[in-house]
Amino acid sequence: MNIHEYQAKQFLKRYGIAVPEGYPAFDIKEVEEILNKHFPDGKAVLKAQIHSGGRGKAGGVLLSQNKGDALKKAASLFGKTLVTKQTGPKGKLVRKIYLEKPSQIDREMYLSLLIDTNIAKHTFVACKAGGTSIEELAESDPDAIAKVAIEPAKGLTEEEINKIASALELNDTKQIGIILSGMYEMFLKEDCTLIEINPLALCSGQLIALDAKVTLDSDALFRHPENRELQDLEEEDPQELEASRYGMNYVSLDGDIGCICNGAGLGMSTMDTIFHYGGKPANFMDTGGTITIEKAYNAFAIVSRGENVRGVIVNIFGGIARTDLIAEGLVKAMDELDYRKPVVVRMEGNRADIAHETLKNARIPVIAAENCSDAVEKMLKELDKGERR
Ligand code: GDP
Ligand code: MN
Repeated sequence: MNIHEYQAKQFLKRYGIAVPEGYPAFDIKEVEEILNKHFPDGKAVLKAQIHSGGRGKAGGVLLSQNKGDALKKAASLFGKTLVTKQTGPKGKLVRKIYLEKPSQIDREMYLSLLIDTNIAKHTFVACKAGGTSIEELAESDPDAIAKVAIEPAKGLTEEEINKIASALELNDTKQIGIILSGMYEMFLKEDCTLIEINPLALCSGQLIALDAKVTLDSDALFRHPENRELQDLEEEDPQELEASRYGMNYVSLDGDIGCICNGAGLGMSTMDTIFHYGGKPANFMDTGGTITIEKAYNAFAIVSRGENVRGVIVNIFGGIARTDLIAEGLVKAMDELDYRKPVVVRMEGNRADIAHETLKNARIPVIAAENCSDAVEKMLKELDKGERR
């Protein structure tokens, strides 16, 4: 689960890491109140709060010189769509701003903590040159980036602290030691999947986290009900949210074939097969184990809705799932939505004979497939026909 910078910084602060004084604002009136109360000279850093990095280069981080300037800049940020390297071409709408006390930066560094799944260890990633061009540096000079793994049984020791301090070219290990211990403790206690501080700034000898990105392990949220409240529903993909409300997993992609499968494994192999035959999936819906008629109906409604979806493949292997119920939900959805684009269905297993009968008698015809490859080939043939029309 992603959270905003201002929320991430509250975590860091709680774990003893220095961050600039700051306040979130949800409208221009709040901006004015914050300025009056905390930044009377109007000098502030105004930072768009969207779930994306690269805001600086996209005009989402602004410095104000006086109150009038701050209000003008805040007004320009609210309602603006920021297109960053991470948002994709559609960008993200700015609904919240974070106002911070400006810092005089002497040097910007990069520091993050994540799990290196190759070695199954918590790993710090550090670079003496951080800031907005870290991605370019990582590509042009990968050796400039140090990776320091933590032995789980030992925890963070002096040895690692020294290694990271030297990678960051910091002579004094005391301050960085406090930051590293805070990050490590926070990662474990809050069940994080990432803590990224970029830049970690040196300001008159003090190390300050000027930016922060924290992601929390969604599967561990049951241990932290208070952290669940940090989720900003406005930042989430509406289709993914809707699917999760029905207990299904939806992922939106950039191709043109919608996919409904039961089980992530079957979903992955269906997508692989689509790619293998030269197609591209537009999304995929993993309906999970037990499927009701209503669930199948909604799976189809969500998957087929996307503008770029030119056809839908349904690939179901019924074990626990009853294919007859899925077929019924599917036919009902196609009927009510009057869906006329090609739908190819492969259904095997639990009550498949009844399912096939239901599909055969549907008002809007579906194309039956024998197996996954057959389904993909039939879909691509249909899409080709559409192209030639
Ligand atoms: P990002 O582009 O989304 O990663 O946003 P950041 O919070 O990292 O800000 C981008 C850049 O803005 C930083 O690398 C800094 O160079 C600059 N910046 C952020 N806060 C301050 C500040 O308080 N003072 C100054 N002078 N620059 C800042
Ligand atoms: Mn940053």
